Amino acid sequence: MAEYDFKDLAAFKGVWVFCEQRGGKLMPTNEELISEARRLADQLSEEVVGVVLGGAGIGKEAKVLGGFGADKILVCEDPLLDVYTTDAYTKVIVDLVKEQKPEVVLIGATNIGRDLAPRLAARLHTGLTADCTHLDIDSVGYVQFLRDSSTLDEKILGGIDLEDKTLKMTRPAFGGHLMATIIIPRFRPQMATVRPGVMKKAAFDQAKADALVVETPAFSISKDDIKTEVLSVEKAAKKLVDLIGADIIVSVGRGISKDVAGGIKLAEALAEELGGVVGSSRAVVDSGWISPDHQVGQTGKTVHPTMYIALGISGAIQHLAGMQESEFIVAVNKNDTAPIFEVADIGICGDLFKVAPLLLQAIKDEKSAK
Ligand SMILES: Cc1cc2nc3c(=O)[nH]c(=O)nc-3n(C[C@H](O)[C@H](O)[C@H](O)COP(=O)(O)OP(=O)(O)OC[C@H]3O[C@@H](n4cnc5c(N)ncnc54)[C@H](O)[C@@H]3O)c2cc1C
Repeated sequence: MAEYDFKDLAAFKGVWVFCEQRGGKLMPTNEELISEARRLADQLSEEVVGVVLGGAGIGKEAKVLGGFGADKILVCEDPLLDVYTTDAYTKVIVDLVKEQKPEVVLIGATNIGRDLAPRLAARLHTGLTADCTHLDIDSVGYVQFLRDSSTLDEKILGGIDLEDKTLKMTRPAFGGHLMATIIIPRFRPQMATVRPGVMKKAAFDQAKADALVVETPAFSISKDDIKTEVLSVEKAAKKLVDLIGADIIVSVGRGISKDVAGGIKLAEALAEELGGVVGSSRAVVDSGWISPDHQVGQTGKTVHPTMYIALGISGAIQHLAGMQESEFIVAVNKNDTAPIFEVADIGICGDLFKVAPLLLQAIKDEKSAK
């Protein structure tokens, strides 16, 4: 192996995605990350490589990733990689990175990704930006993103080097009150964890899936490399709400406080009628009225359903961060100056306990008329 120099920027090429699996099944986040990696790699004219670690047969599962934009997957199959352990995954990926020198490494900000990424970055002597919500390579696009989403003036925007091709990693900072863009100018690879649900998944392309190159690089892993032993994996018996995959979300906020059970029931009835699921603001979770898996927002889930209905939610910046990309937003709030109305396609000013039953009835009537 040629000597590894993390400061030799020109030696690093390609955009890698760590493709997570659990129980031999690939996680949906991989498809979002591969799609985003494709967009970034096109700006560098480089290839997208999915890195898949697991037990026997995981390579077959991963072929689908080509359809979302991967040119190649590196498949490492071994019984010791079947269940995630920090030691085993770190060893194998560090060795691969040192051998093949990718320019960018993207990892989902899942529980496993949040555990793995900092360990990799430390071993590789490079930087990592955690929990990114936006990525750019092309500086012209980055300036446009800043123009659309920030208050920076043209003088500052005009000073940005448009030829710069470092990865610009943007994430909420200071409790979501501002967005920070972080770069890794001197070391490679440039590493980022990316929030699940934030990046848009590309349309699946069978021809690209068929063209995917599958490589099985040499790697070594032994029991001695792993300091922990996974005795069993116990899944929570409780069924968690799938906000990220939901097409319609009916969310409740502190506005339900005068009748919490009644407010949640209304949301459940609306969600059921529309074939959706129930979400919430953090205030509702913090009050113990609903379980944390329902929370939408900066410290909850990022969602982009076809329709998001907000009942009694004020629209704090941290809530908006998780839902403002929804295709169509309906907000019900009794305060006509509530910030949620600024992002709503339809705003209904009124008491949710009066408005929601009317909405429910109207939907039922419409359905039976059909
Ligand atoms: C670091 C940090 C991270 C955070 N992360 C998140 C996050 O991930 N998600 C999140 O949601 N928040 C988050 N927050 C909290 C956020 O700042 C807000 O406090 C929270 O979103 C408020 O929730 P709410 O809109 O339900 O409550 P409120 O702000 O109290 O709003 C309740 C709304 O209901 C309306 N209302 C009251 N009664 C009725 C009625 N009968 N009918 C109709 N409308 C009614 C009121 O007019 C009001 O607008 C975070 C905060 C911090 C500091």
